[in-house]
Amino acid sequence: MENEATLILIKPDGLKKSLTGNILTRLSETKLEIVASKMVRVSRELAAVHYQHLADKPFFEDVLKYLMGEFHDRRKVMALVYWGEGASVKCRSLAGSTNPEEADPVSIRGSYGRITTRGVYENVIHVSAHAQDAEREIKLWFDPDEIIVNLFPTRTVVETKEKRAWL
Ligand code: UDP
Ligand code: MG
Repeated sequence: MENEATLILIKPDGLKKSLTGNILTRLSETKLEIVASKMVRVSRELAAVHYQHLADKPFFEDVLKYLMGEFHDRRKVMALVYWGEGASVKCRSLAGSTNPEEADPVSIRGSYGRITTRGVYENVIHVSAHAQDAEREIKLWFDPDEIIVNLFPTRTVVETKEKRAWL
């Protein structure tokens, strides 16, 4: 297997249930390297592009609200990039099936996920499906300078953008 990167999101239910430590401990079994991490306030735009493959599904709106944190009164997710051999396959195997009721009970989703009365699969974690999806998703969630290895080709841009600085 080749070295590759995968995007992990600890979704708002994972954060609200205080599962960050448990999830990261489980993922450490993969022996992959964490090469980026941050907390993100998820906009509708980001959620919609992230889940663009579900745009024609009846549950699309609920899945956007879920990722934006609207069901968990905290608008944040933790985003990480894991890097190493077979990163997506290894992390997805620990994560378990999309439907938490069908997921292996000892997987992350099987242990901590639930289906809400609205029918949303609250499965505490996102993992990219494969290397190609991972590249699209990582480029969506992270800038090159936020990742401590060079994953993908970059270009130099000159930006004069106002930003906040510490007083
Ligand atoms: N989802 C859902 N109901 C479905 C399918 C998906 O609530 O019938 C949610 C679930 O949270 C899932 C996310 O939408 O993790 C993205 O779906 P996808 O098919 O990409 O599954 P994943 O890659 O997360 O396993
Ligand atoms: Mg997916």
